[in-house]
Amino acid sequence: MSSYLDTEKRSVSRPIADAMGRPLHDLRISLLDQCNFRCPYCMPEAKFHADYEFLKRHQRLTYDEIIRVATSACSLGVSKIRLTGGEPLLDKNICDLIERIVKLSGVDDLALTTNGILLSSYAEKLAAAGLHRVTVSLDSIDKNIFRKMSGGKGDLEKVLAGIKAAENIGLGPIKINVVVQKAVNDHTILDLLEYFRGTGTIVRLIEFMDVGNRNGWQMNQVVPSHVLLESIQKRWALQPIDQNYTGEVARRYEYVDGSGEIGFISSVTEPFCGDCSRARLSADGMLYTCLFANQGTDLRESLRNGADDDELRDILSRIWLQRADRYSELRRPEVAEHHVLRKVEMYRMGG
Ligand code: SF4
Repeated sequence: MSSYLDTEKRSVSRPIADAMGRPLHDLRISLLDQCNFRCPYCMPEAKFHADYEFLKRHQRLTYDEIIRVATSACSLGVSKIRLTGGEPLLDKNICDLIERIVKLSGVDDLALTTNGILLSSYAEKLAAAGLHRVTVSLDSIDKNIFRKMSGGKGDLEKVLAGIKAAENIGLGPIKINVVVQKAVNDHTILDLLEYFRGTGTIVRLIEFMDVGNRNGWQMNQVVPSHVLLESIQKRWALQPIDQNYTGEVARRYEYVDGSGEIGFISSVTEPFCGDCSRARLSADGMLYTCLFANQGTDLRESLRNGADDDELRDILSRIWLQRADRYSELRRPEVAEHHVLRKVEMYRMGG
């Protein structure tokens, strides 16, 4: 381990860097693999039906185990933690965990990604527990298309009410993640942008990706961000703005008329692996170093076999220092379309 490790504080003066020089900055923590939506591109109902066996409680990391991993990760440079799922608000005690994570040394950004349908009843408690901000996945402002894209489970009014509640309690700037699919919801994007213009809420338009193994991804379903940008600029003038930090996934734009900001996440046509600083922890304790990973490292086994904090940190360091993932840069659509490579499902690692 190199000299910038402070043995007293058991922390590093600068984040450890992977084999491509990318610092460890973000840790995404999936709290559970269950969800109350059945979005066809992530958790199709046919597969994830009522009798589907999700992880049992004892198979999921306990809060103590999550805190141990997060503490080690922060000591190696992590400063941004995002809580995800499945749907994290299905975890009824999530506020207890948030209260503990927000106190960890090094955490300066604690966010949560949710489908928003339970947000109204949680917003106040989340803010009181110390959560900094939320991101809501909302693929369309057309209630019928939204319902279809959420596998018949999404109630648009409830999600919009949740966004309002989060905004009112100060869990902003709220970000809205929109997965854009050709001939599915791309024709409703301008309406969605219109709805959030001037509200301070930031809409991020995400190119449809070949995550996992079930979404039947084809390149001709992708709406390249530059095409979307051109169609939006026919309606509103936009200008590019700088990233908030190196490694931020979205390319940011602002409306020239001052109505706010939007972003483009273009993993297919403009991959951003070069700055990718994200590690992912699944609900059952697997650590993944890429959204398109086909394998991970089992931290739960080490945690439950008595690994102490130094050993845990050495395991995390070893994983990150050897990391060389750059799937999106190497993606060959003609290969990806055949779904030959078995990848870990997105809902298991929290997107
Ligand atoms: S493909 Fe993997 S390495 Fe590239 S940006 Fe996405 S998660 Fe990071």
